[in-house]
Amino acid sequence: MARSRTDPSRMQHEPFSAAVLTRAVKSQPELTEIKGKSRKPPIMRQYDLIERVRRYNRNTDEALLNRAYVYAMKAHGSQTRASGDPYFSHPLEVAAILTDLKLDDATIAAALLHDTIEDTPVTRAEIDQLFGPDIGRLVDGLTKLKKLDLVSKQAAQAENLRKLLLAIADDVRVLLVKLADRLHNMRTLDFVPPEARRRIAEETLDIYAPLAARMGMHGMREELEDLAFRELNPDAYNVVLARLRALAERNRDLISDIEQQLTSKFADSGIQAEVDGRQKRPYSIWRKMERKSVGFEQLSDIFGFRVMVGDVQECYRALGIVHTTWPVVPGRFKDYISTAKQNDYRSIHTTVIGPGRQRVELQIRTRQMHEIAEYGIAAHALYKDARGSPTELLSRESNAYAWLRRTIEPLVSELANGDEVEILTSRAQLAPPAAWESIVVTGKARAAIRRATRAAVRKQYAGLGRRIVERLFVRAKKEYSDEKLQGALPRLARASIDDVMAAVGRGEMKASDVARAMYPDYKEERVARYGAKKSLAVKLKLKSPPEAPRSPSAIPIRGINSDLPVKFAPNGGAVPGDRIVGIVTAGEGITIYPIQSPALKDFEEEPERWLDVRWDVDETTPQRFPARIMIDNVNEPGSLAQVATVIAEHDGNIDNISMSRRSPDFTELTIDLEVYDLKHLSAIIAQLRAKDVVARVERVNG
Ligand code: MN
Repeated sequence: MARSRTDPSRMQHEPFSAAVLTRAVKSQPELTEIKGKSRKPPIMRQYDLIERVRRYNRNTDEALLNRAYVYAMKAHGSQTRASGDPYFSHPLEVAAILTDLKLDDATIAAALLHDTIEDTPVTRAEIDQLFGPDIGRLVDGLTKLKKLDLVSKQAAQAENLRKLLLAIADDVRVLLVKLADRLHNMRTLDFVPPEARRRIAEETLDIYAPLAARMGMHGMREELEDLAFRELNPDAYNVVLARLRALAERNRDLISDIEQQLTSKFADSGIQAEVDGRQKRPYSIWRKMERKSVGFEQLSDIFGFRVMVGDVQECYRALGIVHTTWPVVPGRFKDYISTAKQNDYRSIHTTVIGPGRQRVELQIRTRQMHEIAEYGIAAHALYKDARGSPTELLSRESNAYAWLRRTIEPLVSELANGDEVEILTSRAQLAPPAAWESIVVTGKARAAIRRATRAAVRKQYAGLGRRIVERLFVRAKKEYSDEKLQGALPRLARASIDDVMAAVGRGEMKASDVARAMYPDYKEERVARYGAKKSLAVKLKLKSPPEAPRSPSAIPIRGINSDLPVKFAPNGGAVPGDRIVGIVTAGEGITIYPIQSPALKDFEEEPERWLDVRWDVDETTPQRFPARIMIDNVNEPGSLAQVATVIAEHDGNIDNISMSRRSPDFTELTIDLEVYDLKHLSAIIAQLRAKDVVARVERVNG
């Protein structure tokens, strides 16, 4: 995920206006103590929870919820949280958050049980037996995600997101419980050690808040953002909050005056409308201040109002009344009713010079649209529907969820007995991808994958070692033969030629040691060799004819699954057509970088690690290579889908997408994709640039 938003170094580079604000408040110590929402209610009783559910679901299975409550409470026993509260208060609060979203019994029960498998002796089998496999599966999915939390570091975020998406594909309710879990953890973050606090807050901003936004859950998203903002930049948070409060106080009369005028205007035309002055959120204010380098006053001169009416007809009638009563501010009208946003958000937006010559921003929507705007996928009243699973229901009713499902489904689907399977084989694939280990179902398959992975890795090292040894012999003008090495094995204390080659490939043994074992008179030409390599590296970096002649000892690079332990630049990859160099890392093999990679700077002082490499691509069995691009994508319905479609239509393979919102109008997408070569990549980039929804595309070199 792009980290720029939460990068601590960037947080210090506040725009002028924000910095001034921060200083202003620092001089008013009484304001720095302001805390955001802090909820620490007494432990909710069993009856209270059931009552909350009963309010929206008269058919609730009370016995089930009672069982889950008692079972989880007993399981957590005397465990406590960092705050000193009984641990059980946490799952209980998570369940309570989900009752606010009006979720079904299985989700509420899963919330109560969500930490039992990981933190207590309880097993999945026991949960299955007591609560049924549906709830068992949910709790199991949440347990897997909890393990991720523990290992999560910034670098692991992308992987976390991928696993999270897979868990959601099984059952979307896993996401809902996970978001509620994260929300409660964020609300009680004060008791966690500072280091972990920061990491959790960053992950919340990078993964969970955007995911909540994607799912249209704006209430959830805003609270997550504000809590993370408070943690990551408390000075800024406090200052914005204080200003917002002062502003609300100052304008209280004006706001209610505008509310009344709007309400009576609508009533005159027979429209029963609820009009609400909207409180702006600290984080969204701050983001605007950062982005636009404008001050608080310029952002707060617009009052936001929500107008809720009965049906779509009334939305447009209300709009007509507003537009004929007050002057319209040009360029701010948007109709998300006729064209919903991709996350199902629907509303009409407009801004007028309203009562008191005040700029007034209006969101006009029906009450049902409002539910979806606030609760997103959770608004689809999961408990009501008896037709099919919640996942099926949502796939039918929610564009946001359907989109997510489509994104996830190339990834994994489980086979059922009787399914027909086409098995695609490739000579280029020496071993099953190691990542499959986490996907396969039987232990036997897992062990086989591990074995094959180990064997393939060993074979790769041996292959690399052999090339390194053979190159040294060519340079030293000595003759290499397996027979001669066989005879030298005792001197090298290795059992086989493969062992020797693998040791050289891994960097455990030097090729010169092998030469000396075979030719006792061999002398290592250390200085000369290093000198030559250095000049080679420099030449590669300065000269640029693509067909630059390569030294005959250059190691040919085929692809990820070649018989060399080769990987590609971790942040940007490399594709045929790029001029490349290899960097050797002991124990890891070769990393291939395009010569334009800024990362190569780090290796300039270590010429012995530079390896001359060239592409050796087999035209008859085309292979894909990794590359990274960055796109500024216009935020509008379907824009991400358009990007994905262009890439897919041009035979690119998307490996990973991360998103960060740069402004209300743009999302920055970082896409790792696999392409055949540079021409292929350039063609895809050109096609993307031709799209209206794409403002900018660049290749990224790490
Ligand atoms: Mn939890």
